[in-house]
Amino acid sequence: MRRVELTQLAADYKAVNLGQGFPDFSPPSFVQEAFCKALNEGFSMHQYTRAFGHPNLVKILAKFFSRIVGREIDPMEDILVSVGAYQALFCTFQALIDEGDEVIIVEPFFDCYQPMVMMAGGTAIYVPLKPREGCGPVLSSADWVLSPEELASKFSPRTKAIVINTPNNPLGKVYKRKELQMIADLCIKHDVICISDEVYEWLTYDGTKHVKIASLPGMWERTVTIGSAGKTFSATGWKVGWAMGSEHILKHLKTVHQNSVYHCATAAQEAVAVGFQREYDVFGTEESYFHQLPIHLHEKRLRLADCLKSVGLKPILPQGGYFMIADISNLNVDLTDPSTKDEPYDYRFVKWLIKEKGLATIPVSAFYSPEHRNEFQKYIRFCFVKEDSTLQAAEDILRQWS
Ligand code: PMP
Ligand code: GLN
Repeated sequence: MRRVELTQLAADYKAVNLGQGFPDFSPPSFVQEAFCKALNEGFSMHQYTRAFGHPNLVKILAKFFSRIVGREIDPMEDILVSVGAYQALFCTFQALIDEGDEVIIVEPFFDCYQPMVMMAGGTAIYVPLKPREGCGPVLSSADWVLSPEELASKFSPRTKAIVINTPNNPLGKVYKRKELQMIADLCIKHDVICISDEVYEWLTYDGTKHVKIASLPGMWERTVTIGSAGKTFSATGWKVGWAMGSEHILKHLKTVHQNSVYHCATAAQEAVAVGFQREYDVFGTEESYFHQLPIHLHEKRLRLADCLKSVGLKPILPQGGYFMIADISNLNVDLTDPSTKDEPYDYRFVKWLIKEKGLATIPVSAFYSPEHRNEFQKYIRFCFVKEDSTLQAAEDILRQWS
């Protein structure tokens, strides 16, 4: 069973939805107004724009991220605007991975990486984030780490790329500069490309800082950084994303994009451009949405963690992103439904929770390779980018049954 079927099941049962990752509140008014304005601005916003990204958008993305990466980003060469981060990922794999290439994927991973690698003809090689030994009960995503020796052992002459995701979905891990440097050193040593999925880049908590691996010495030339306006401005349905990197890599992604999708909706790109211009102007101030959203979500994150603990679940506090995973093994629910008996425990648990209790979550084994799925059946993922009323409804369900 795939995740998409669980999303449908949640809709069929009208479950309280802490499953799929999307906000159930509106984007900030400045981007909504920009979208409406774009639609009323005459014919041009209803027509085709530049294939590789609407000029207003690539210009401001380049200006914005030049400041962050610490180098001059060329709007016309180094950026490709895509239909959400999904399509940026798809173009990246199609463009860079050939038959026989190996791609290292860090587990747990956002579930489209593996099929995308396979569709490009590549082979996925997995390396796990593991709870650090000897640190007691695991309470934070920071305790999940890569073993440098294990990671190094995964590189081979066939390795073409490594995919990392920081902040990570579903765990919420935010890689420290030191961890990124270790990955960067291996990429440079083995002449490997790094695909860095950073769609939750503005969502970090408790003073944790997001670092772009592309900003480390020698990494700009070999990194494709993936971003999402859906996550950035709480507008997942707009499907605006981008890939950013050196022109010599990006040109191949552009070929795939031009010959498949051509470009994404002009008015949505214009609205995102206005949003980034506004954020550029107020960057680092309390007015910035990139400053406000994590503060808003931090409260929800603590609230959900407290609730999960109070009903006997063991949550792992995320350093970033908008998901929290929790260990369900304490609950000892007897899952007797014979129709699901061959599925992993977390899938059966999630289905039971939707059907019997009206609460939707996501099984964490969905974020593991078929080889390792069985070892990770005791966690489920909760999404907390939700209205307080939704979190309250979820709490009511959890408290009633525990
Ligand atoms: N990467 C990660 C880690 C995600 O969680 C998601 C889900 N939104 C995406 C990429 C895809 O983003 P988009 O909605 O912009 O296509
Ligand atoms: N990124 C979101 C999530 O992980 C939505 C993606 C999806 O539904 N496939 O829930």
